[in-house]
Amino acid sequence: MTQQVYSDDPLADRQTGHYRMEYVTSFVDKWDELIDWAGRAESEGQFFIDILKARGKERVLDVACGTGFHSVRLTKAGFDVTAADGNAAMVAKAFENGQRHGLILKTAQADWRWLNRDIHGKYDAIICLGNSFTHLHEEQDRRRALAEFYAALKHDGVLILDQRNYDAMLDHGFSSKHKYYYCGDQVVAEPDHVDEGLCRMRYSFPDKSEFTLNMCPIRKDYMRNLFREAGFERVRTYGDFQETYAEDEPDFFIHVVEKS
Ligand code: SAM
Repeated sequence: MTQQVYSDDPLADRQTGHYRMEYVTSFVDKWDELIDWAGRAESEGQFFIDILKARGKERVLDVACGTGFHSVRLTKAGFDVTAADGNAAMVAKAFENGQRHGLILKTAQADWRWLNRDIHGKYDAIICLGNSFTHLHEEQDRRRALAEFYAALKHDGVLILDQRNYDAMLDHGFSSKHKYYYCGDQVVAEPDHVDEGLCRMRYSFPDKSEFTLNMCPIRKDYMRNLFREAGFERVRTYGDFQETYAEDEPDFFIHVVEKS
């Protein structure tokens, strides 16, 4: 598939499984232009590496590997990483990017809703980054995915999951000052439409190509509560990698969630 698929009313496309119609090969091929590996590495620094090392974690499952940015970084930093994603084109691109960095990544295609069917063994840590979790439009799928993550973790495992600061977007509108936070400076990422049930992001590339993603704008406290209801004991939330932050300021929240 090369063209993104939406219905006649794209604002009505609010199904969890829809991500497969959005990450078509033409968009996957452009994703690295969007995320700009060097700029992203610089802006997040050692944050994830430090969190995992401080807890003595080694075996990491990247459940939303995308094109492999974190899988490659963490493998290079000495972690034993499995790169998984529900989208086959993403998994293939992650493997290719791993090779480009001299690595043979362990990869798997797995949808979070039935993760443990396709991924075996227990992990010290699961990462789900790049606002990926907000592809889940239905609450029962969010609960199901968290239950699957919980089951794939060892008894003292940690889940690191990030999300856009949708609270700020819903309550105060989108601030363009954060437009380039994790994007290359050539690509404009802006919401096309925002309501309580949908944040439709538009990505405009210098060659004039455009792609969209329909995400579910889940609020921070709602998400923190879901982790607790899934059985996780400790939930710590950072704002743009800082422990203290003004609620409206961060572009992203990063939840570090511990099983025990
Ligand atoms: N983590 C990567 C990054 O930060 O560059 C990719 C982020 S991209 C916004 C979201 C990824 O989540 C896509 O690669 C998509 O295929 C994957 N994804 C979305 N819903 C999924 C699901 N239900 N199961 C597995 N993967 C899913």
